[in-house]
Amino acid sequence: IKTSSSNFIKSIVADDLKQGKVKEVVTRFPPEPNGYLHIGHAKSICLNFELADEFGGRTNLRFDDTNPLKEDTEYVEAIKHDVEWLGFEWDRLCFASDYFEEMYERALLLVRKGKAYVCDLDAEQIRETRGTLTEPGTNSPYRERSAAENEQLLREMREGRYADGEKVLRAKIDMAAPNINLRDPVLYRIAHTKHHRTGDAWCIYPMYDYAHPLGDAIEGVTHSICTLEFEDHRPLYDWIVRECEMEAEPHQYEFARLNLTNTVMSKRLLRQLVEEGVVDGWDDPRMPTISGFRRKGYTPEAIRSFSREIGVARAYSKVDERMLEHFIREDLKLSAARTMAVVRPLKVVITNYPEGEIEWLEAENNAENEAMGTRRIPFGREIYIERDDFMEDPPNKKYFRLYPGNEVRLKHAYFIVCQEVVKDASGEIVELRCTYDPETKSGSGFTGRKVKGTLHWVEASQALPAQFRLYEPLVNDEALSEDKTYMDCLNPQSLEVLEGFVEANMQGVEGGTKFQLFRHGYFNADPKLTRPEHPVFNRIVSLKSSYDP
Ligand code: ATP
Ligand code: MG
Ligand code: MG
Repeated sequence: IKTSSSNFIKSIVADDLKQGKVKEVVTRFPPEPNGYLHIGHAKSICLNFELADEFGGRTNLRFDDTNPLKEDTEYVEAIKHDVEWLGFEWDRLCFASDYFEEMYERALLLVRKGKAYVCDLDAEQIRETRGTLTEPGTNSPYRERSAAENEQLLREMREGRYADGEKVLRAKIDMAAPNINLRDPVLYRIAHTKHHRTGDAWCIYPMYDYAHPLGDAIEGVTHSICTLEFEDHRPLYDWIVRECEMEAEPHQYEFARLNLTNTVMSKRLLRQLVEEGVVDGWDDPRMPTISGFRRKGYTPEAIRSFSREIGVARAYSKVDERMLEHFIREDLKLSAARTMAVVRPLKVVITNYPEGEIEWLEAENNAENEAMGTRRIPFGREIYIERDDFMEDPPNKKYFRLYPGNEVRLKHAYFIVCQEVVKDASGEIVELRCTYDPETKSGSGFTGRKVKGTLHWVEASQALPAQFRLYEPLVNDEALSEDKTYMDCLNPQSLEVLEGFVEANMQGVEGGTKFQLFRHGYFNADPKLTRPEHPVFNRIVSLKSSYDP
């Protein structure tokens, strides 16, 4: 694993500081509050905050709330929580809507300078006259309105004299520009819609391409980092900063967005999953949202390490989702306590063990981290083992778990031998009858004979019922094709819910506590579903992976 994390944006910042182009680096993370943040956003958050941290600068959290139709305060709060949870502190909490008045003043300035005009074409006509990559666009018939007329019309737009879509304000640049973004882009549109913060104060709203550079300049952002699809917008970004006569001169830099295998990474699609009830909310542990990862049991450290490790590139790529799993395993290896849980229980009666007796055995909490100490676990005549750890007719000699006549070790306890299989009327196995050898007690130094299989178990009379939720990817990438959307490629087996048992000391476990359940993987007590008498565990990740970055 690389620990250094230099990247091309860092080099640019270092140079700009060295050459005195900027005195201090200021970045921002600019989410639109129209959904919950996903792991792609986490990458952008880490990049912006860590960049500023490294050079002693600062980072603003700015809500890009210029599209009132889709935005909501619920999302604002969720986003703030996610950024804090990742471990970052913003310098200023800003909203693009805080700048509506200033943006409007700058629009008046553009109009007076003859750099913008009010256009009566509708959205479709604007699209049709924009031209193509090979053909120039054609000028709007409203392009030559006088500055005075434009100012009058813009004021009337603001006053609410026109209906949605009746007029727009457009930059007056060049309808023949090779870069289509410069062909008189729309700066303002009319929308008689209540805004989550400004209410009914405005009925015209700035477009992203206009609002973003102004927000950056107003806040004194020096390095405005965005994803590659905005590369072609950069000349417009610079045009807006210049023609609006902003004092500060922010610069835009682009990097490739993060994509993960078997993961949907667009708010639009994620919202669809939530709205159609495919998942149980934005924080469903199968969702690639930060809140979903948190509920599943990921730690901020693991997400930050991952985002550092994948680096910052300008080329599109898809990161293997198992790489993220690698980092959570690394993080939990030394910190998560080991415990035993049986997810598909099968009762075992130890016939030569005294009835009604319980003894307490010592078990270490983390063999890799002695500092985590030990706990005491009960052992008695009836226990549960994993149904998958028994076979009546093993297929070959390599089967070392329990089968009739075979001896195995019970972790932290004794050797047992299977003597008898009890079935119900339908032939299903309902119980095993075994004997144990008191000589073989764990920790007693017994060396008389060896066994190859070690099983986990829980003592039946004290075991706590618990639920286990095992997750698989929500979508299957490989099924994607030209005529198939993500919704067609949902994995019907993305969630498996099992009822089993955990050690008695799990009673009252707090939601969010992480464990390594012996042989099953790392699990998180679900913060929403866990009850004192019935914990619910989300599997974060299995113990092993075929992948090693
Ligand atoms: P989506 O299309 O998923 O809704 P978005 O870009 O519209 O994403 P915003 O809320 O506008 O979402 O994004 C806030 C910031 O996060 C932007 O700077 C954006 O570039 C960045 N970002 C969004 N998705 C990714 C991603 N997959 N990888 C890296 N950065 C991302
Ligand atoms: Mg966006
Ligand atoms: Mg979006």
